[in-house]
Amino acid sequence: MKNSLFIEKAYHNGSFISSEKTFEVINPATLKPIGSLPDLTVKDCQKFIKSADKAWKSWKTTPVGERSKLVRRLFELINEHRDEMAEIMTLESGKPINESQTEVDYANSFMEWFAEEGKRAYGETIPSLAGNARLQTIKQGIGVVAAITPWNFPLAMITRKVAPALVAGCTVVLKPASQTPFSAIALAKLADMAGFPKGVFNVITSKDSKGIGKELATSQLVRKISFTGSTEVGRTLMEQAASTIKRISLELGGNAPFLVFNDADIDLAVKGAIAGKFRNTGQTCVSINRFYVQEDVYAAFCKKLTAAVKNLVVGNGMKKTTQVGPLINKSGLEKVEHHVADALAKGAKIETGGKVIKDLFYEPTVLSNVSPDSLIASEETFGPVCALFKFKTEDEGVKMANDTPFGLASYFYSENVKQCFRVAEQLEAGMVGINAGLISNASAPFGGVKQSGLGREGSKYGLEEYMEIKYLCFGE
Ligand code: ADP
Repeated sequence: MKNSLFIEKAYHNGSFISSEKTFEVINPATLKPIGSLPDLTVKDCQKFIKSADKAWKSWKTTPVGERSKLVRRLFELINEHRDEMAEIMTLESGKPINESQTEVDYANSFMEWFAEEGKRAYGETIPSLAGNARLQTIKQGIGVVAAITPWNFPLAMITRKVAPALVAGCTVVLKPASQTPFSAIALAKLADMAGFPKGVFNVITSKDSKGIGKELATSQLVRKISFTGSTEVGRTLMEQAASTIKRISLELGGNAPFLVFNDADIDLAVKGAIAGKFRNTGQTCVSINRFYVQEDVYAAFCKKLTAAVKNLVVGNGMKKTTQVGPLINKSGLEKVEHHVADALAKGAKIETGGKVIKDLFYEPTVLSNVSPDSLIASEETFGPVCALFKFKTEDEGVKMANDTPFGLASYFYSENVKQCFRVAEQLEAGMVGINAGLISNASAPFGGVKQSGLGREGSKYGLEEYMEIKYLCFGE
């Protein structure tokens, strides 16, 4: 591949490194390998952590103005290499090239945001209740940060952790998903070009996610772990991190509801549904998983949604016209097939789709009359399937939407302003899209409640995740 950012090496302490043992990365659209990377071990991981710890000693005292300039420089380099980054992303994740370009921009918006926000890590002066002592707080970077990221957003899930960490004065060991590590290495190449001191940013590549994850979560030297991925793995990392009382941020699975009320603008709702359901072939943690439609508008919404879904173009993401790519792998495809078969067995009707096209490509699908006891109602499908449920009253709709252990994103459509406030306040979710199917924004706090996670990414709150408050008491 002619792409200056495509590098088959890991990045440690300012150097690109190889190893004897490697693993292959597969293009999910063609099922062919696109390249291989070092399959590094737990022992290697210990070296990465040590280097990050050593680098932290000087990085933390580097003025924030300088740290910010480097993050800003990285932002500029990502902009300059937008097409190369997007190409790597599509080849390893299968997502349509237009979506990859949008992701590069979105990922980079965290670099821009935190390069600025890092300068505003203000402390406070606090009035003393007794005597004349002077009380103050300052904020300082936590220390070595371990970041573990998933395959569905190969760059954005990294930058929303790495940008605030670096500007806050932390150093980073990143372990990207083994399905999509080339985007992370491309970022390392640009960080190297930007001129970050050695050891400040490191990328470890490995097939041994469990072993590396455990080392990062239990190491005394790592002061914070930030993870995006499944609730199951998040739970394991939280348990492991308990041994050293590490700070932890978790952005875990969702099971997003999408409510369409009788007062909704149906055309707008269909547009939001397509955007919120089919981006990345339904493989995002904020993807709509359950469509609850109020009875008066159920038939109209189902008809219009089905017509829109039938128009979606499925194919290899490198083709400009493609709107829906393949699933990431066989187990992803099997989950979709299993959920659809289960829904059909419990009485659902196929409005469109419902079959594998070939290899990892699945037809964009609409199922109506889905029973609330179907698997799709309680588990994240992570695929291009719309499951439609009917409800009668607002209370019933909200109750069904909240009937899940998860609470990441939720969406609803209504033109009734009082209903908008009522429902937004009642939904048990960290984020609510009101007449909006896409909600992510670097300036807004992204995160979940219940078993969808801990902490927030992006926004002014996203910086706090990487800083400790220190209280200073100046005696009289
Ligand atoms: P997904 O369904 O998105 O693959 P995972 O939680 O399985 O979600 O994976 C997210 C990230 O966590 C990936 O980088 C993966 O390699 C890593 N991972 C998987 N299992 C573990 C584990 N036991 N400990 C730490 N990281 C893990």
